[in-house]
Amino acid sequence: MGEFELIRRHFQRPLPAGSSAVVLGIGDDCALLQPSPGHQLAISSDMLVEGRHFFADVDPEALGHKALAVNLSDLAAMGARPLGFTLALALPQADNDWLAGLARGLFALADAHACPLVGGDTTRGPLNLCVTVFGEVAPGQALRRDAARAGDDVYLSGRTGEARLALEHLRGTGWALAATGAAGLNAELRARLERPTPRNALGRALAGAGAHAAIDLSDGLVGDLGHILLASGVGAEMRVHDMPLAPALRELPLAQRLECLLAGGDDYELLFTAPPDARARIEAASVRSATPVARVGHITAAPGLRWLDADGRDMPLAARSFDHFA
Ligand code: ADP
Ligand code: MG
Repeated sequence: MGEFELIRRHFQRPLPAGSSAVVLGIGDDCALLQPSPGHQLAISSDMLVEGRHFFADVDPEALGHKALAVNLSDLAAMGARPLGFTLALALPQADNDWLAGLARGLFALADAHACPLVGGDTTRGPLNLCVTVFGEVAPGQALRRDAARAGDDVYLSGRTGEARLALEHLRGTGWALAATGAAGLNAELRARLERPTPRNALGRALAGAGAHAAIDLSDGLVGDLGHILLASGVGAEMRVHDMPLAPALRELPLAQRLECLLAGGDDYELLFTAPPDARARIEAASVRSATPVARVGHITAAPGLRWLDADGRDMPLAARSFDHFA
């Protein structure tokens, strides 16, 4: 099977109905996209590297899902509507069963978000996937990291920490095995790591609901919130006890529970801010998008990040964010 046969067989499909922005898809030198009149393009790339972002034996269908999910999550965090994506793929060999699995995971999520594959590149090399997504957003509506204002509420979609617990289980970490049972990772917890749900319906609803800043949680809440605070020149007071706690995390010793909750990574939830007078609209956006959100803190004019316990006292936390080069 040559390169072009591989592309035709696994990646070239008729465009799904509803992908009206794609004028020309796979097969020419470039794809052609037509955004809605007056809209801005939102573009993001995320690369997944074997041994760094996933284990060699990962289910290819889950890998296909995750490669697109982490990119859709970036569009969600900007409040942008997905238009299409490209896939750059390096493969050690062309294994049809493996590629079919990858394509299944990729296209199932692409179809669910009306976000078609419009092009890419395929080469031999160490296993590596890079997806680039294209989206659109009306001018002034993007949820930028520099838009948080003193007095804003801080909200979190869903809940954090389960992906990290699943990762530590797969790594064989003692405290994770003690909490999850050494027998095997249960399907729900594994899915939190391998099949994250990007929050696109919520992100788009937030853009119209008066939200200010947003970020998707890929490297851990503490560090990702830090990006908003730095970009916006503000601080935050956060309430640990208002953060939703997954049942699987309740069994963990306090230090590891906080590590998962606040610095877990791979959560792909949205952390966002909105002024108090937008509370009813944020609640409506949450209902409309069928995505739970919790109010977990507020933005302060004074810089710095404080974590408060149930009695409003400072909690000293050691949790730090994931950094590939730290
Ligand atoms: P070129 O040499 O002009 O860059 P290629 O020969 O690399 O084009 O690719 C041929 C066509 O197949 C292009 O339209 C390209 O976008 C598409 N393509 C290549 N690899 C992939 C892939 N992994 N997924 C989707 N489309 C791909
Ligand atoms: Mg090429």
